[in-house]
Order: sequence, then structure tokens, then C-alpha cells
Amino acid sequence: MKKVVKFGGSSLASAEQFKKAARIINKDESRRYVVPSAPGKRMPGDTKVTDMLYRCYNLAIMDDEYEDEFEEQMSAIRARYDEIITGLGLSIDLSEEFKTIRMEFSRKAGRSYAASRGEYLNGILMAEYLGYEFIDAAEVICFDEEGNFDGERTNELLSERLADTPRAVIPGFYGAMPNGRVKTFSRGGSDITGSIVAKAVRADIYENWTDVSGFLIADPGVVKNPKAIDVITYRELRELSYMGATVLHEDAIFPVRKEGIPIHIRNTNSPEDKGTLIVEGTCRKPRFVITGIAGKKDFASITVEKAMMNSEVGFCKKVLEVFEENEISIEHMPSGIDTMTIFVHQDEFEEKEQKVIAGIHRRVEPDFLELESDLALIAVVGRGMKATRGTSGRIFSALAHANVNVKMIDQGSSELNIIIGVRNHDFKDAINAIYDIFVNTMI
Ligand code: ASP
Repeated sequence: MKKVVKFGGSSLASAEQFKKAARIINKDESRRYVVPSAPGKRMPGDTKVTDMLYRCYNLAIMDDEYEDEFEEQMSAIRARYDEIITGLGLSIDLSEEFKTIRMEFSRKAGRSYAASRGEYLNGILMAEYLGYEFIDAAEVICFDEEGNFDGERTNELLSERLADTPRAVIPGFYGAMPNGRVKTFSRGGSDITGSIVAKAVRADIYENWTDVSGFLIADPGVVKNPKAIDVITYRELRELSYMGATVLHEDAIFPVRKEGIPIHIRNTNSPEDKGTLIVEGTCRKPRFVITGIAGKKDFASITVEKAMMNSEVGFCKKVLEVFEENEISIEHMPSGIDTMTIFVHQDEFEEKEQKVIAGIHRRVEPDFLELESDLALIAVVGRGMKATRGTSGRIFSALAHANVNVKMIDQGSSELNIIIGVRNHDFKDAINAIYDIFVNTMI
């Protein structure tokens, strides 16, 4: 059995957290490949090392007058690592590493290089502490000349390299372009590295250790003490993350999904908790009819009405072109017989609204155009909905009882999700009503 384990920033923020991570790794000898993030926040209000590095690099490339501030920032970063080294009782000295980093900063090696040092140095410490081999991600995670991740080349290199390496630490978040320049993924990208490594070694499971016990059915900022999700499919997860639920980087599912490798989200601070298992498919009955609820606020909608629009070839295309020309991305698009409604992000739309209205008039000569703002979209997601009658009925009666006016309903043909549009100010009540009817009453 082979497991790849990724530890997030808060799981490695201090020597204490390092010890917890090492205990987890040492408890199961199949945890052979470790992907660390940079040290994160030790307590609320603390700063992640990645943010310190970005700041430090900005100071490094500014005028001499910022030199003192730069020195201060650099020492603060060094202190974060030294604190871990001392706390773990390691004898390693990072002086040479810091000399190189200073030199590269003065040569303007780039923001990516700067940020990547957080994971790089943490990887060195982790490897030393565990007695695992350290593999610099710049040698095995490849980006092309344009800076796009090169999955094929990476998989070739990495699987070859790890075939001869029984236990290794590979820092997350970065790789290198063909010219050797370091390149990072977007923020939170160590999750992606973990997934890439899991694919390369054909792991049985990719464990993603973080500071929460998995995905929750709803946002705890909206619903009080929501229950955790035991098992979720990749498709359900996509739907929920698209609607704003975050725990895992969105792109982290692609490498493992193709290989059928499950991801297990677990809590470093509470390793006995079950966590959430993310799988391609499962026969296991979900605990509740719905798997999760997520939503986003601040949308505007544009409804275009024209009699017989369905028989006009290219009608939708012409409307959508207006949005494309104005560089407005479309979030959602329910339609009726003679109407189509386009949901867009309000902030993106507001400044261009008159151009869009004029464009639609010119293109399709609608009978009527209606704009609405301050709308929220809520996705109710669950593989269990397909096999259960009356799900939407229950949702809408719950919303009616909560006095929430439903502005829009859209059920995907997969029957995996129902999207509901409500007013921004009904957002919280709507989510609570849905949670209540499916989870608290548990019928
Ligand atoms: N350290 C990086 C960040 O803060 C990457 C990661 O933690 O996944 O975004």
C-alpha cells in the first residue's frame, strides 16, 4: 500500500505542528511520500510565510530606502524556520540556503521563486526530521515555456524518479520551466502537487491533512455547527467548490481523478476524526439525500424576452456574444419558452450594463429586457437526489415556510444539483431552511 500525504500550512506552522504531522506519518508505514506546504498561521492574526516572502521580495526589488524593512522581513522569515529547527531539536543550519535566497532576490529571480522558498525550506526540514529523501520540486514538477503545467512530462520524470525512492519529501506549490526558472501554481497549490505525486506513484490514496475534519455540509459561517460529509464524489465536489465551498484547491482533483485515486481530507489536529473521502463513484448510500449546500451572493440577472425566440436560429448565440464582447463571464443561464436569463457577477456587470443593454437591443431586438440585482445563487448538491422523489418539493416548501421568495430554479439534467436564485438578504435563511429540512429532520 502506498499513500501520499500532503500537509497544509497550518499543519506545519510550528515545531508542535511538525511533531503532530510526523506522528501521523510514522504511524502508518505506507505514508511514503510527503508533500509539505510552507508554514502557515500559528494563531489568528499571524502571517503565513508565503505572504512574508511575497512582501520581502517586493521590498528587495524596491529602492535602497527600503533596505531596513527588507532586512527586518528576511530575519522574521528566518526566525520562523529557526523556531521550528530548535523546537524539533534538529542540528541543520539554513545559513547557506538563506545566502542563496538573498542572492537570487538581488538578481530579481521573480515572485514565484520568492514564494516557492516557503515550501522548499519546509521540505528540507521535514525530510531531515523524518529521515526521508528530499527531492526539490523544481527537478520533477514541470511547466512549459509559457508557464503552463506540463502534466505529461512531469508524470514521466516524477514516476521514474520516485520508482527508485521508497520514501521522499517533495515540497508543494512549485516546479520549474524548461529554462530552470521557478514557477508556482496559484495560491493553495500544494494540494495540486500532492495530487500530481499521487498520480505518479499510483498511490492507493491521497491524504490531504488540513485543519478541519473534512468538508462540511454547509458553510459554518452560515449554518451553526453543520455536520461533516463522509463521502463525496468528484462531481459533487466540483459543483460545491464552484459555488464557493473551499477546502481543497479546485485543480487538485484532476490528476488523481483520472487514475481513480481517492482523496481523503483529514484533520492534523484531530487525526481520529473520519474526515471526508472524495471518490470517483460509490455505492455507499449517502447519509442524507443532499450531500452539501453552497452558494454565492452578489449576482445580477438580465432577462431577455422575445416571442418565438426559440424558433430564431442563433438567438442565444447572438445574446451571448454581447457578453463576450464586453468581457463579462456568465455564471448561469436558465431559459424559458420565450425568455432567457443570464446571471452575471454584479461587480463585473455594473459598469458595462448600458453597453450590454444596447448591444442586446441591436442584436436581437427583444420585446422586453429586465435587469435585477442583489441576487444570490444556492446550489443544493447530492447524488442521492436522483433516486429520491420529492426533493425539489421539499426544498421549495422549506423555502416557503422560511418566507423566502424563489427567483429562479434550475435543475441540472444529471439530477445532481438544483440551483436556486434568491435575494441576497434571503441567502442565510434559505440555506438554513434547506439544511434543516434535509439534515436536522433527517427523513
Ligand atoms: N503556501 C502556498 C500558499 O499559501 C501554497 C499552499 O499552501 O498550498 O498559497
